[in-house]
Order: sequence, then C-alpha cells, then structure tokens
Amino acid sequence: MGKIAVLPSEVANLIAAGEVVERPASVAKELCENALDAGARRITITVLGSGLDLIRVADDGTGIAAEDVPIAILPHATSKIAGAEDLWRISTLGFRGEALASIAAVSRLSILTRPASEPLGYFLACEAGVVQRQRPQACAPGTVVTVRELFYNTPARRRFLASTQTEQTRIVQTVANLALARPEVAFRLELDGRLVLATTGGGDLRATVAAVWGRELAQACVPIGFAAGDTTVSGLLAPPAMARSERDRLVTVVNGRPVYSRPVIAAVEASYRELIPPDRRPAAVIYVDTPPENVDVNVHPTKREVRFRDERKLRTITEEAVRAALAKTDLVVTGAAGKYHGEYSRAVPVPPMWPAVGEEVAGLLREPEAGPWTENVPHEGMLAPLVPLGQLAETYIVAAGPDGLYIIDQHAAHERIMFDRLAAPVPSASQPLTAAARVEVGVDGVAACREYATVLGGLGVDVEPFDSESVLVRSLPAAIAALGPGVVRDLLAELSGAPADQADSVLDSTAKYLRARRALAACHAVTRAHDKLSPQEMADLITQLRNTTHPYACPHGRPTVIRLGLDELGRRFGR
Ligand code: ADP
Ligand code: MG
Repeated sequence: MGKIAVLPSEVANLIAAGEVVERPASVAKELCENALDAGARRITITVLGSGLDLIRVADDGTGIAAEDVPIAILPHATSKIAGAEDLWRISTLGFRGEALASIAAVSRLSILTRPASEPLGYFLACEAGVVQRQRPQACAPGTVVTVRELFYNTPARRRFLASTQTEQTRIVQTVANLALARPEVAFRLELDGRLVLATTGGGDLRATVAAVWGRELAQACVPIGFAAGDTTVSGLLAPPAMARSERDRLVTVVNGRPVYSRPVIAAVEASYRELIPPDRRPAAVIYVDTPPENVDVNVHPTKREVRFRDERKLRTITEEAVRAALAKTDLVVTGAAGKYHGEYSRAVPVPPMWPAVGEEVAGLLREPEAGPWTENVPHEGMLAPLVPLGQLAETYIVAAGPDGLYIIDQHAAHERIMFDRLAAPVPSASQPLTAAARVEVGVDGVAACREYATVLGGLGVDVEPFDSESVLVRSLPAAIAALGPGVVRDLLAELSGAPADQADSVLDSTAKYLRARRALAACHAVTRAHDKLSPQEMADLITQLRNTTHPYACPHGRPTVIRLGLDELGRRFGR
C-alpha cells in the first residue's frame, strides 16, 4: 500500500485556513472585504476579547440568495471569478472563494443574510465547516456573519496568538486601513462594547483620516494628485513635522485594496528622507489607481501584497507625486507647535571594505541621488525672503519675514547649504597618483576591472587591466586618495565577488561613501553654533538657504527654520 493519500476535505480545509486565517484580524479583514465586495455602505464590526470569542461583521450589501448560502461556505466557491483568465481583471477584493470555507473550518460560524429583493432571509450555522442548522429567517437586507470560538479545533494555532491587547490592535489596524481605503463606506468597530473607530462614509478622505488618526493630523495633511498615462496616484500626506515613530501610518491602497506596496512605500520614504529624522516614518494615505491588468493581486495568500507589471515606473510616478506635493507645502515648523522631537541617531552600513566615516557623516549617506527634485522644483515660493534682525546666543539668526518672525539655526542651515553643494551631480574629483601603480588583483579582479572600468572612472577611480593578474591604477577620488592604490584591490574583489545583481549596490555604496567623505570635509568647514556672524554673513546665509532644495531641514532631518507667524504673535499679545 502506498503512503501517499489525498487528505480528507476537513484536513485540507485546515491547511488552507492556515494560510488565509492566521489570526482574528484576518477574519475581520476577510469578512469586511466580502461586505465591501457586496457593495455595502455601512459595515459594523463587533469584537469580543482578542476576537477568539466573537467577531461579527454586519453589512447592508447585496446579501446572498438562500440557495447560495450553503455553497458560499464550500472551499473555492466564489461568485467573483469564473475562470483563470479572470485573475487578470479582478475588480473585487475577494476572488479565491476560500475565506468563508477557511474561517468556517476553524470556528463556529453562522450567516444570516437577505437580498433586498427577497421577502425573507436565510440562516445557516456550521461547526468546523459542517452545517448544523439552516432555515429561512426574517432579517434586514444585507448580511451578518458571526464567528465564534475561532481556532477552537486547532489549539496549536491558538498558542501562536499574541496577547489580547496585541490581537485587538491588529484588528483595529486592519479595519482602520480598510476605512481609509474606502472613505465612501461607513465603518464602525466595537471592541468589548466600546466604540473604537467610526467613519461617516461621506466619501471625504480628510474626514476619514480625522476619524482614524485624529483631527490634528488630518488638518495638517496636504493632498497629492498625479496622473501618468493610465495610472493615477492620489491621497493625503502629513507634513514632515508630523512624522511619527509608528510604522502603521503609511497606508497604500491599490485599486481600492489596502496592501503593502513596496514600490509606493519606498518612493514615499525616499521623498521624505531628508526631511525627517531617521527614526520617524511619514504618515500618508496613497491611492494608486490603474487598470486591473497592470496589477497581479494573486501573489500573496492573504492578498497583503500585490505585484505591478512595472514597479519601477510606479515608484517614479509616486516619487514625483509626493515631491511635487511636498514642494508646494509650507514645511516650516511653526513655533507654537514644537512638534519636532527625536534626536538623530543611526549608523548606516557601508560595505565592509570602507573604513567607518563616523556617526555624523553616516547620516549623510542616506542622501538620495540628486534627482528630479533638484532639477524640476522651482526654489522661489518655498522659503520667503527674510531680513536678518540679529543673532541670538551666536547660534540663531532672528529674521523678519512677510508673515512673521523667523528663527534660523545657523549651523543646521549651513549644513543644508553645504550638503546641497556636495550632492550636486558633479563627477567625483579625481586625483592622479604621482606615479601609476600596479596592483595585483587576481584573475577575477582583472575581469571585474574590464567590466566596471567605465563606471569606476565616473567615480574617480581611473584603472585599467595591466596583465592577467594585475591592474594599473592611475588616479583615485580625491576623497580617498589617502587610502592608497591598494584600495582598488578591495573594491574589485567586492565587485567580482558580488552576484551580478548586487554589483550595482556595491558601486552605489561606494558612490555614497565617496560623497560622505566629501561631506565630511565640508562639514568641518561649516559655520558652527557659537560663531559670531556679521549682518552681511547672515543675509548671505539666508539667501543660500533659500536656494537649497530643502530649506526647512538639515540633512539629518532636524528643522533649520522655526516661524512665529503674525497670527500667532497677535494671539499671544491678545490682539
Ligand atoms: P470570495 O470573496 O473570494 O469570493 P469568500 O469565501 O469570501 O470568497 O465568499 C464566498 C462567496 O460568498 C462570495 O463570492 C460571495 O458571493 C458570497 N459572500 C460572502 N460574504 C458575503 C457578503 N457579506 N455579502 C454578500 N455575499 C457574500
Ligand atoms: Mg472573500
């Protein structure tokens, strides 16, 4: 007798459940998605405890026809797609027909549902996926799915759950993300009898953000809107001063589906990078709308991630959208708010071959390549022209602006100015060696030299193959000339050892390292706090600051300018 057998269906269901239903929040997510797919305008979620005791989702959607109710809980039963080709034009949140079956398999689940056109509804209750009772029953149009004693028959899974508090937080986050994804639907979440989240469903994103993340954040948000071909990027961004330490405040919604979208998140984070300290995360809700055939939603068991046909393009579009919005924003930290917290602290890894550059300069390594920001964004409209009034404690410049009093941290401002100069896309200054040096690099090193000579030349490393085992180094970037020609051996070893797709990142880190070295030199030349400045020097510094790409923040993300607005002054003087 063979050892391999087809699993009985109840076992197969448990396995599927292991993927779709990881924890109570997954149940809340799947049931809410079903309600949204059914066109619901109001969705009420009720949770007891960590969600293991009870999760109920009630909606006012289309309901399920009586004869379909027993079918809905079968594995792979769905009304949303018919064939494999439909997978490329999915406009609903669900499509696999697995959720109800998977949840039913690991709980005591009941469905009470009625299409508005029917006089009577239908009730069905099952345990571990086996139907116990079903009958016609009067009820309001829509659907109520109740899940009790989740994982009662899979104790192992129960043991993997976190504390009640953590599971509740996950449920709140799941519902919050869905609510942000669908401002036109009213969500209501009750946890142990407490109303913890309620949106109005009026369709206004800012009102929804206010309901979910608070009024203060919502009011400060700026809208973004950008279209490129058949793809649009829209949403709301919180200004850098309101960046939080929480990671859950960057919500990306692709075609109405809240997902973790790497290219979008990477683009947003890159656009904020210089504006916020490294331990802060931008807060934003970003919608990407694109024809369904551009997106593969069938890549993750819980549909948490999607894949785009052209991820690079999406990233570029998003970066442009975010930067355009930020460029129009008044990024000055206002005096009254005092919202900036947090110290700069993070060492950025550099390739092992490069000596450490020190904490101060490690921060500069985070600088993105000078890109569209530098080229496209007009610098006037951003920081108002200011008239210096004087210097305070040899640290701050106090200046008058058209709309209030400005206080500039002279060291931070100077750092920003120097930084911009360094980040300008000029080739690294190359310093010829007194005599060309022959360096043994082995066969692999010579091969790498052949392959990367041009790129290395662009970085200021002038090197060519000499014989089968060695290369000739003619010049080195000025910033690392002191390390001597031997450094080329390490660089080529790093490049030849790296798989093809990582060579770029070696070169990239090298370029960053060289920039950081130049920055280090410049850092030592900047005006420090406690430097006395003449009126002319103050005026020059302000002019230079106004001409930078990000006048409001130093490269470490600290603010350079604080404004006390005329309205604020008026208020304080009781005018
Ligand atoms: P999927 O959503 O992938 O189709 P599910 O197992 O989640 O699979 O649901 C199975 C089917 O049950 C759905 O295709 C839909 O027809 C129906 N259904 C589930 N929940 C609801 C609901 N709240 N309102 C209306 N129909 C629903
Ligand atoms: Mg579903």
